[in-house]
Amino acid sequence: MTAPPAPRPTVVLVYQRTSLPWVFDSARRAGIDIVLVPRPDESVSAGRLPPAVVDVLPLDVEGAPAKAMEILRERYESAPFDGIVTLYDPAVPFVADAAEALGLPGLGSGIARAVQDKRIMRQRLAEAGLNVPGFVVLDDPGAWVDGTRLEFPVVVKPANGFSSLGVTKADSEDELGAVVEEVWQVCRDKLNQVTGLVIEEYLDGPELAVESLAYRGEVKVLTIGYKGEPVGPHFEEGVYRAPAALSSHVREAVVREVVAAHSALGVTHGPTHTELRLRGGKRPYLLELGARVGGSGVSHYIVEHVTGADLAADALRIAAGLTPCPVPAPPAQPVRATGAAANYIVPCGGSGRITAIHGLEEVAEDPRVDHIVQMLRPGDVVRPYPDFTGYPAFILSHHPSTEDAEEFHRTLESRILIDYAPAGGAR
Ligand code: ADP
Repeated sequence: MTAPPAPRPTVVLVYQRTSLPWVFDSARRAGIDIVLVPRPDESVSAGRLPPAVVDVLPLDVEGAPAKAMEILRERYESAPFDGIVTLYDPAVPFVADAAEALGLPGLGSGIARAVQDKRIMRQRLAEAGLNVPGFVVLDDPGAWVDGTRLEFPVVVKPANGFSSLGVTKADSEDELGAVVEEVWQVCRDKLNQVTGLVIEEYLDGPELAVESLAYRGEVKVLTIGYKGEPVGPHFEEGVYRAPAALSSHVREAVVREVVAAHSALGVTHGPTHTELRLRGGKRPYLLELGARVGGSGVSHYIVEHVTGADLAADALRIAAGLTPCPVPAPPAQPVRATGAAANYIVPCGGSGRITAIHGLEEVAEDPRVDHIVQMLRPGDVVRPYPDFTGYPAFILSHHPSTEDAEEFHRTLESRILIDYAPAGGAR
């Protein structure tokens, strides 16, 4: 008699859109089953789910977290799973709480909150002696005058923000009061919570994104990519090209800063997405460290093409209490390093009702393009900043070198254009 096959590891994946395929593909390759908690605004139909998804478990993680926890616990008691994970930043604390409550591997509730709250993060990094710009914490917009002791320009941001929501530069003391009031308003309207603001000195220089994997306290930096050099006053994302062209000296400084930030914040297990700016082109200052695979999986795509490692599979393995795999040797290697990889985030380039998006079909035919993820379509309304509607599309491509990726992105600036009509009236 043969023994029954060992049950496949099962991981609950919270708020992942099925249109962003990487983590589902990785799950299939790693032999991990997924119980999908769909985003409340995405309707998923059984016939069209990625093959790795074995069950769907609707939860209102943001609106009714206590109820969501209760349903999750019932599911765990009736059909246990091995882990819970998310790539969606606002759900990181819920996932950490759930893992802790169910005795599953996780970040820990305290660490998840420290990573998410820019006030705590800045404090911890400063205490650990890392590079931190001058900053001031505000619990009340009326206290904005406290920020005038900083060196201008400054950046005002929600303590618990994400996706650059509300993040705004103020060039002088005269502007600060109005900017603080505006960012406070964004917190109230868009984030459903007003926990406080951080005002910090503006860091000039190129922006970098670093993808890492921590396991048992050891942090492996996988890729360092270039994220443009945004000057504000609002900080829409633009490009992501990896590997960034850096001198070995700067690269080492970035790695040191990122590794030290993990230890200052207590992040010992799992994937992370760190953003920094290279002040004066040389000195790395951390902007934030997300304890998750970044960009809803875009970070996986970048790592896969630059290094051949399967980041999302390792994220799932760690969530399930399994050991991450070293980069597999050919021919078993499921993914292929191609040198450089890039994401072009199509800029809104205006506001109003979208009437047409030109160029996406032609670009999709380009052999360097692997995925186009379209988020906005004709009929959708793009509201002007500081409101944030989302990005029209991501164009993910692979290249022999970062220079080639840069050249390709230059062509996209004139090939992809969005037409608008004034917003208003029923659709
Ligand atoms: P979020 O978590 O909402 O994305 P961040 O702190 O990462 O907020 O800020 C979003 C973007 O704003 C950054 O990617 C960067 O371009 C810009 N930014 C934030 N803080 C600063 C700063 N101190 N100096 C310069 N740019 C900043």
